[in-house]
Amino acid sequence: MIQTIRGFRDILPKDTALWQHIEKTASELFENFGFQEIRIPIMEKTELFARSIGEATDIVEKEMYTFPDRKGDKLTLRPEATASVVRSYIQHKMHTSDPVQKLYTIGPMFRRERPQKGRYRQFYQINAEVFGIAAPYIDAQLILILNELFRRLGLSDLKAHVNSLGCPACRPDFQKALLEFLSDKKDELCENCIRRMDKNPLRTLDCKVPKCREALKDAPSTLGHLCSECEEHFGTVQRALKQQNVEFVVDKTLVRGLDYYSRTTFEILTTALGAQSAVAGGGRYDALIKELDGPEMPGIGFAIGLDRLAEIVEQLEKKYTAMPPDLFIIPLGDRATEYGYLWSSALSIAGVKTEMDFSGRSLKSLMKRADKLNAGHVLIAGDKEIDENALVLRDMATREQHDISMDNPVEQIVAILRK
Ligand code: AMP
Repeated sequence: MIQTIRGFRDILPKDTALWQHIEKTASELFENFGFQEIRIPIMEKTELFARSIGEATDIVEKEMYTFPDRKGDKLTLRPEATASVVRSYIQHKMHTSDPVQKLYTIGPMFRRERPQKGRYRQFYQINAEVFGIAAPYIDAQLILILNELFRRLGLSDLKAHVNSLGCPACRPDFQKALLEFLSDKKDELCENCIRRMDKNPLRTLDCKVPKCREALKDAPSTLGHLCSECEEHFGTVQRALKQQNVEFVVDKTLVRGLDYYSRTTFEILTTALGAQSAVAGGGRYDALIKELDGPEMPGIGFAIGLDRLAEIVEQLEKKYTAMPPDLFIIPLGDRATEYGYLWSSALSIAGVKTEMDFSGRSLKSLMKRADKLNAGHVLIAGDKEIDENALVLRDMATREQHDISMDNPVEQIVAILRK
């Protein structure tokens, strides 16, 4: 038997009502804040991710699904969406019609991480990106949107962590202090951190190895080295969050695993799945659009982990299931099956959710099936009912019955079910 690849999984029909509910709640909320949907390819040139996420990150070094296509072009299954949305913004010169673009997209991402509960190699994200607005209010608003989305979905156990990574003006000062600190701790760091020290010292702060975490717990933070503009920007973000009653903590360890961030970064953490884990994360990336050969234009965005979010919402009281059929047609005999087929198609087109049986089983066993499907009504159509011009429509809850004539059964059924 052929099975899915390790870390890949099916989202089964029993779960898709919940997924659709989350996606609909998100897109409705985003649209109220002026976002429009964009759909982007799941495969891009490897270079796009290497240049944007950063060569010395875990994602690019270890986790990307990269392979040559038949002509030898180096391609990658996208590990995240921001780089592709930025590429699209630049490629289609969106800034020439309006530099401000608010875009969201929902879809699968691919990272070759070690699979475990809540972590998959194909996982889904809901992404939102805002281009062309440098004001700190938009940083606060994105965190507010996440907060509101999670509130609408019934989540309570959440905390926003926020940090500022500074900008090209204050980063060198910080990097110098960090490098000095790291040189003293070199003996206590893992090989990866030592290698990354020169290339990109900030990445050491994102290392998950316990001995590095211990060695780096008193490492200098970006917050201690912000320039006055970054200081003011971060101050406004925090003030706006407080004014809107968004609970948050300032977390100087929140450096995120991608290189393109500047100034505000944030994550929404929860303990709902056992150990503390992030259900969403994001930040500002004011240099990225230029870096990818676009105009000088600020940007900021977030990604929500849809798999984890679905697992949390699933634990809540409310259940999301597909709607049962309005009508189950029970045809008894060949003639009835042919009529039943035509009626069931016409009824579905008319907006009545209709199922019918083709197995030719007995009335008794098909009534059982109607119960199992939780059908609202059944239509019993045997050769006898057809000859007598009196089909039977039965309300499964009240047991009330209607005679339906053969003249225009679809219209009669629609009229009764719509009452
Ligand atoms: P990131 O792009 O790494 O900041 O991820 C944003 C969110 O996506 C995280 O907070 C997780 O909820 C989710 N996520 C990231 N990687 C995975 C994964 N391998 N499996 C499931 N969800 C993930």
